[in-house]
Amino acid sequence: MMHRLRLSKSRYISGDQCHLRLWYDSYARDLAAAPDDSLQAVFDTGHEVGEIACRRYPGGHAVAHDYRHTREAIDETRQVIDAGAAPALFEPAFVHERVLVRVDILQRLLGGGWRLVEVKSTTRLKETFVLDLAVQLWVLRGAGLDVREAEVLTLNRDYLYDGVRLDLNALFRRHPLIDRAGALHDLVGAKVQEMHAMLAGHAAPDIAPGDHCFTPYACPYYAHCTRDYVNPEHGIDELPWLTAKRRAQLESAGVEEIRDIPADFPLTRLQRIVRKAVRENRALVHGDPAGILAELTPPVRYLDFETFAPAIPRFAGTRPYDSIPFLFSVHTEHDGSTSTHTDYLHEHDDDPRPRLAERLVEALGSEGPICTYSGYEGQVIRALAVAVPDQSEALASAEARLFDLLPVVRNSVYHPEFHGSFSIKSVLPVLVPGMGYGDLAIPDGQTASVQYAGALASTDVEQRQRTFDDLRAYCERDTLAMVRLRQALGEL
Ligand code: SF4
Repeated sequence: MMHRLRLSKSRYISGDQCHLRLWYDSYARDLAAAPDDSLQAVFDTGHEVGEIACRRYPGGHAVAHDYRHTREAIDETRQVIDAGAAPALFEPAFVHERVLVRVDILQRLLGGGWRLVEVKSTTRLKETFVLDLAVQLWVLRGAGLDVREAEVLTLNRDYLYDGVRLDLNALFRRHPLIDRAGALHDLVGAKVQEMHAMLAGHAAPDIAPGDHCFTPYACPYYAHCTRDYVNPEHGIDELPWLTAKRRAQLESAGVEEIRDIPADFPLTRLQRIVRKAVRENRALVHGDPAGILAELTPPVRYLDFETFAPAIPRFAGTRPYDSIPFLFSVHTEHDGSTSTHTDYLHEHDDDPRPRLAERLVEALGSEGPICTYSGYEGQVIRALAVAVPDQSEALASAEARLFDLLPVVRNSVYHPEFHGSFSIKSVLPVLVPGMGYGDLAIPDGQTASVQYAGALASTDVEQRQRTFDDLRAYCERDTLAMVRLRQALGEL
C-alpha cells in the first residue's frame, strides 16, 4: 500500500492516543462504531457553539470550500490572507509536511501577525486542547504564517443571559496558550514523522486494548478491538467505588473476578457485601428497608423530571449548560394499594419553567413525602424556585418533603445482577421482575433530551406528537418504577 494519505488535526490526536486508532481512521473507518444520538448531539452542539463564536469577529471570511475540496480551500485561504482585508478567517486550510488543518478562527492582529483560535463547547479547559493548538501551530508556522498568539475559547459557565441579547464577550472565556502550545513544537514534529512512518507500513500496528482506549476520548474501535474478549461474569469493575490503586493491586495479582478477591484484601463494607453476594450468587439484605419505608405515610408521591441543558443559554437568568426541566411525572399513592398519575410536558420552544412550576406545585399538593431516585430532583426544584419567584415558597416546601429512595437501596440490598450499579435501570428488573425499560421507544434521560430538542425543531406534526407521547411514557415509567420499587423494598 503506497502511503500518500495526509494527516489531519483529528487524525494526529487519534494517533497520539493510539497508533492503531490512527491506522483504522486511515484505512478501515468502517470498523468504527457509529455515533449514537447522544454523541451526535455533542457534535451538533460543537457546530452551534463554533458558529456563534465566529460572530465575535465581524467581517470575517468563511472559507467556502469544504473538506472534499482541500486544494481549493488552501488556495482560497492564501488569496484571502494575501488580499489583506479580512480581519479574520473561519475554517482556513493549511498544509505542512502532509498534515492538513482547518483552523476554527484565524484573527489578523492589528500590530501584524495572526492569532490562532480554537473553539470548544465545554466550560473547562482540558489538557488535550493544548495539543489541539500545538498541532495547528506547528502546521501554520511550518506553512510560513506569522502566528503570534494562540488561544482556546471555552464557554463561560458564569455568564448569565439576560434574555435579550447574547453578550459574546462574556459568553466565552479566553485561554491564551501560545507558550504552552509552542513548547510542544519539536514533539509534534517528531510524532508526525512517526505517524507517517507507521502509516507507510502495510500492516496494522499490534496494540492491545487498555486504559488508553478511553483517554482522552473513548475510542470508536473498542468494540472491534475487544470482539474476541470473554468478559468476566462479575469483573472487579463492578465493585462500587473501587479506587485506581486497589484496582491496580488486583490486576497485578491477576484477579479479574470479584469472587476471586482474597479474603484479606482490603475492601470497604459495601464492597465486602458485593463480594459475598457474588460468591453466594444471591441477594443480600443488609439493612432494614421495610423499617425505613414504613415511615412514609400516605399520600406518598413519586417525582421524576426530564431536563435539557443548552450550551448556549436560551432563557433569561440561565447560564451555559443549566438544566432546564421540560417534563415531569408524578404518581400519587393514596392508601398503599392504588395510585394516580399526572404529568406536564412543555410542547413549545419558549421557557418551560413558569408553566411547569405552576403545574408541579398543583401535582405535589401540600402534604406527604415525595419520593425521588437520586438527589437530582432536589437540585431541579431549587433552581426552579429561583427561576420562578411566584412559586418559590411552594417549591421550597416541596423540597423539604423529598425522600430519596436511592440510599435506601444502596444501604439495604445487593444482588449480583445489579452488576455494581444502583441506578434505577439496573435495580428495577431485579427487584421487580418483569418490569424494565426495554419496551419503550426512549430508554434513558439522555435520549429523552435529544429527542425533545428534535421534536421541538420538527415541522412534522405527527412525528412530533409521537415523540411527545414517547417522552411521557418514559417519564411515567420512571415514577411507576419507584412505586413498584418501594413496594418491593417494603416486602424484603
Ligand atoms: S480500542 Fe484501544 S487499542 Fe483499539 S484502536 Fe482504539 S485505542 Fe487503540
